[in-house]
Amino acid sequence: MFKLHNTLTKSKETFKPINPGKIGMYTCGPTVYDYIHIGNIRSYMTADILRRYLEYQGYEVRAIKNITDVGHLTEDDIAQADSGEDKIFKKARKEKKTPQEIAEFYEDYFKNTEKEMNILPARYFPKATAHISQMIRMISGLLEKGLAYENNGNVFFDVAKFPGYGKLSGNTLENLKTGARLERHPDKKNPWDFALWLKAPKDHLMKWKSPWSIGYPGWHIECSAMSLEYLGETLDIHTGGEDNIFPHHEAEIAQSESFTGKKFVNYWTHTRHLLVNGEKMSKSKGNFYALEDVKKKGFSAMELRLLLLSSHYRSPLNFTWNSMKQARQNFKRITEFIQGFPPKADKKNRELNQKTDLKTGSSDWLKKYQEKFESAMNDDLNTPLALSVLYNLITETNKLISQKKLDKKTAADILSLWNKINKVFGLTLKGERAEIPAEIKNLAQEREQARQKKDFQKSDDLRKLIRKKGYEIKDEKERYKIKKLY
Ligand code: AMP
Ligand code: ZN
Repeated sequence: MFKLHNTLTKSKETFKPINPGKIGMYTCGPTVYDYIHIGNIRSYMTADILRRYLEYQGYEVRAIKNITDVGHLTEDDIAQADSGEDKIFKKARKEKKTPQEIAEFYEDYFKNTEKEMNILPARYFPKATAHISQMIRMISGLLEKGLAYENNGNVFFDVAKFPGYGKLSGNTLENLKTGARLERHPDKKNPWDFALWLKAPKDHLMKWKSPWSIGYPGWHIECSAMSLEYLGETLDIHTGGEDNIFPHHEAEIAQSESFTGKKFVNYWTHTRHLLVNGEKMSKSKGNFYALEDVKKKGFSAMELRLLLLSSHYRSPLNFTWNSMKQARQNFKRITEFIQGFPPKADKKNRELNQKTDLKTGSSDWLKKYQEKFESAMNDDLNTPLALSVLYNLITETNKLISQKKLDKKTAADILSLWNKINKVFGLTLKGERAEIPAEIKNLAQEREQARQKKDFQKSDDLRKLIRKKGYEIKDEKERYKIKKLY
């Protein structure tokens, strides 16, 4: 039974999907005004592992990850995060570029980083700027219901009208009134209200027409509008980093539940921060490392992936170069094992192999490893424990090899188990013979037939489809080859 921690209930719950076999999952993606850093990657890795493990269990996962290209303001440490300047606009002015150029550049960087990290791509990466009309519709609905108000072209959510406010973060209205650092916007009725729409200053480049003013959306409304568009009223899972819990996700719940009258999200999954010297790694503090920085120090993306897998997503992780060195050692151990597996048998060894084949030929003991792997992952994605199962398997197999007791069937079963569990870990090992899935082989075959019939349009379309699925076809004399792209 798969158990997942839910920030809403603060407990591990047995996972139950809304629809059998299918999962809708939304992840708060990057604000594209700077290079994504390895802290962001940690949060996306959690979503990736969660998705991969759901797929391992046979679910079909519809994963959506938004691109914030407007509305995220610089003062996001102030409780409702709606003061300051637009982060993308500020960067565009600094670099003398258009906000679109800034957004596109950093979006590409983000996507390439995810590819290098072997994070499976979302089904869609919707952009905030492409969903302004959906946001306006939602804001209008909230105004009609009397849950939001307009003043001087600015629209705010009236927090006091949503009784459930604070259920995710504990920042109830009572707590906000006494504790939080709240800003006083002249058009707000109460300082705890948050912006849905803001009137743009004259020189602002990112602005749209709306019934209230020429302006731009608040940060939170984009995720409510886009998750509704792509996943419907209630989502199975919503993920993000722990800093998203408040105010961003609290505001999403208030907007979405007020608008639809339905529960917004069944499971909230939040990743604890990646720290440097005990402090949150963040773009605004400037204390961050991008994947490039890690590579410049001679480490690979997969070594970083292994480091991130080596800690539980709900424990804080302090990033150090020493921990990267440890990850490199562990990665080497896995790589050397898999690349040299199964070991070539010398003559004497082969005889022994055959003997054990006849005598035992049983790989039942391997089931124990698969069960242990599953029980670790079933316990709220305990990846460090799941990795230790893999390390133990390597140790036990190496013992069999040195005792010359490994038979062919067991070797094949070990490889097949590795392939299964590594679909979840997602480690790509250099030089490992990538298994080409049957679906890709069939598509490639179909394409070859189209090519031979000189139906170049079809052959080209199929090549594109195969490429989209992460494989490349290389035509050679009389034959073709399939290559995994990443
Ligand atoms: P941002 O681009 O700042 O909106 O962040 C994108 C995602 O990364 C959000 O889900 C954040 O919560 C998450 N995030 C930001 N900093 C960190 C960090 N140091 N560790 C883990 N996740 C983070
Ligand atoms: Zn979001």
